Amino acid sequence: MAEFDFCIAGGGVVGLAIARALSRSGSVLLAEKNDLFGSETSSRNSEVIHAGLYYPAGSLKERLCLQGKALLYDFCNRHNVPYRRTGKLIIAPTANHPKIQALQTTAARLNIPLQYLDQHALTALEPDVQGQCALLSPTTGIIDSHHYMQTLAQLAQANNALLMRQTHVSAARVKNNHWQIDLQTSDGPYQTSASVFINATGLHAQQLASQCDMNSADIPPLYPCRGHYFSYSGKAPFSHLIYPLPEDNLTGLGIHATLDLSGQVRFGPDTQYLHRNQIDDYQVPTERESAFYAAIRNYFPGIDRQRLHADYAGIRPKLHSASQPAADFDIRLTHVTPAAIHLFGIESPGLTSSLAIAQEVTELLQMA
Ligand SMILES: Cc1cc2nc3c(=O)[nH]c(=O)nc-3n(C[C@H](O)[C@H](O)[C@H](O)COP(=O)(O)OP(=O)(O)OC[C@H]3O[C@@H](n4cnc5c(N)ncnc54)[C@H](O)[C@@H]3O)c2cc1C
Repeated sequence: MAEFDFCIAGGGVVGLAIARALSRSGSVLLAEKNDLFGSETSSRNSEVIHAGLYYPAGSLKERLCLQGKALLYDFCNRHNVPYRRTGKLIIAPTANHPKIQALQTTAARLNIPLQYLDQHALTALEPDVQGQCALLSPTTGIIDSHHYMQTLAQLAQANNALLMRQTHVSAARVKNNHWQIDLQTSDGPYQTSASVFINATGLHAQQLASQCDMNSADIPPLYPCRGHYFSYSGKAPFSHLIYPLPEDNLTGLGIHATLDLSGQVRFGPDTQYLHRNQIDDYQVPTERESAFYAAIRNYFPGIDRQRLHADYAGIRPKLHSASQPAADFDIRLTHVTPAAIHLFGIESPGLTSSLAIAQEVTELLQMA
């Protein structure tokens, strides 16, 4: 039975960032159940590097998004990961909307650049966008998330981390001061052990935690929330990311327009809570098109409906229902000797925060 310093379950962007960070200080095994790394939530998102404007004061989301944004831009520069600081416009239907003022207050508190644009300035910048005023966030950008994850994997492997695909972690139990970990590989069942166990399995984190000596009452309930995307064929009508004002309890950020690095526009994601047994259901119901059309027309009245096409969906591993206040990331040291960390509720801005989350995990282990 092989023994590792660290065993990480889950090879999404967060597991890969943690593997890269921990591989500098010890031997790492990362186990991913799918054929490819990052093929669940990490490749079903908007690929936006968020500025950090939306999250409750003092929350982990706020701190890790801000730290993560700076770390990610620096990482992209150092490792040639494609990205672009497109900037983002947040459009308000009325001048002096209270949400605009609240965002300005947050930006000032956190030192995030944010520029107020009146209607004329907005039209000059984006002639096809309609609004009474807007906020321009110049530090928002987009990233090639696949290239980023590939780079994280290569850097971890260069430090001798063992990254296994088609390897499902089914349980981890404490035995003789170590974690004894059950793996299902393509060659059959296998057991390994590690001094530290990390659960970074996204939508499956609650399920795996229940097989890891964790009291079920301590596991936060999962409220999966699907977000659908519609692509917009042809030439992009905007050069910035275009967002409406955020939803009240931050269930989503409103149906917005993002660009990918090839210049293609996509709209979304919206929000649809699912039953807990639907976490593999990535369908995009075509009847959602009319709600998309209506929402987009509010800020893009010239939209050509024929160019909207159902595209893909991603599922947020939320820790709150539609009627509850927004929950924070839950990154928890559950055992000290041997140590275990479980990561729950890593929804947006998890991609932006990934390098800061890895740093947070490293620091939690140093303090344990
Ligand atoms: C619609 C949508 C839009 C988003 N937009 C953005 C955005 O623009 N910017 C941003 O910063 N964030 C965004 N996010 C959030 C971001 O995508 C996530 O926070 C991030 O991808 C989470 O990564 P992860 O590694 O925790 O999870 P995942 O990517 O889900 O990775 C978990 C991995 O664990 C594996 N796994 C599960 N169970 C097991 C097991 N038992 N054994 C082994 N492997 C297992 C899975 O196969 C999966 O690969 C968005 C999310 C959604 C849903």
